[in-house]
This record gives sequence, C-alpha cells and structure tokens, in this order.
Amino acid sequence: MDCPRCQGPHRTYPATLTVNGRAITQVEICPYYEKHEGITDETVLALVVRLSGRYFNENGRQDDYAYFATELARSDKLYRLVWLFKDDALYLGVVNCFRRD
Ligand SMILES: [Zn+2]
Repeated sequence: MDCPRCQGPHRTYPATLTVNGRAITQVEICPYYEKHEGITDETVLALVVRLSGRYFNENGRQDDYAYFATELARSDKLYRLVWLFKDDALYLGVVNCFRRD
C-alpha cells in the first residue's frame, strides 16, 4: 500500500491479539514514528499487546480505515499510540507512536 507518511514499506510481525472483538494475526508498523527518538519496534509491539482484550471507540474514519489514538504506559513512561483497523482485515496498523511525558 502507498503510505503518504513514510513512502516506504511497512514492517509486519505475526501477532495473536483480540482488539474490539477482532482476532488479529498481524501487526503492521509504519516507520514514520522513528522521527521520535527512543522508540523501537519492540516498544511499539509491547504497547500493542496492551490493547488486547479491550474495546475502543473510533477517533476518526477515512473510507474503510478506522483510526484510534490510545494512551498507554510502559516502564513508567507514557506513550500515545495511533493505530488503525481496515474494515474486515485481520491486521492492526500502527500509524504513529510518541512519548506523552
Ligand atoms: Zn508508512
């Protein structure tokens, strides 16, 4: 897919999570977040795991993509994770991630 933010390929990881009642098998990370220092894919994936088993309201929608922004803590640090669902797809896309403290 063409990403307007990074223009590059996204990294994908296998995953087993349930978010908004949807069984997810893959996490796709846009490397755009790398402009924020001190965050790695490991951090992002650890935050994504914290979404599992929960339900979230959409913060926005564009065509068949629903967008969410969720504040999550890890190791006493607070992050905002911006992520998406594509309708009927079994992956969770990470759009951005940055520190909130
Ligand atoms: Zn991207």
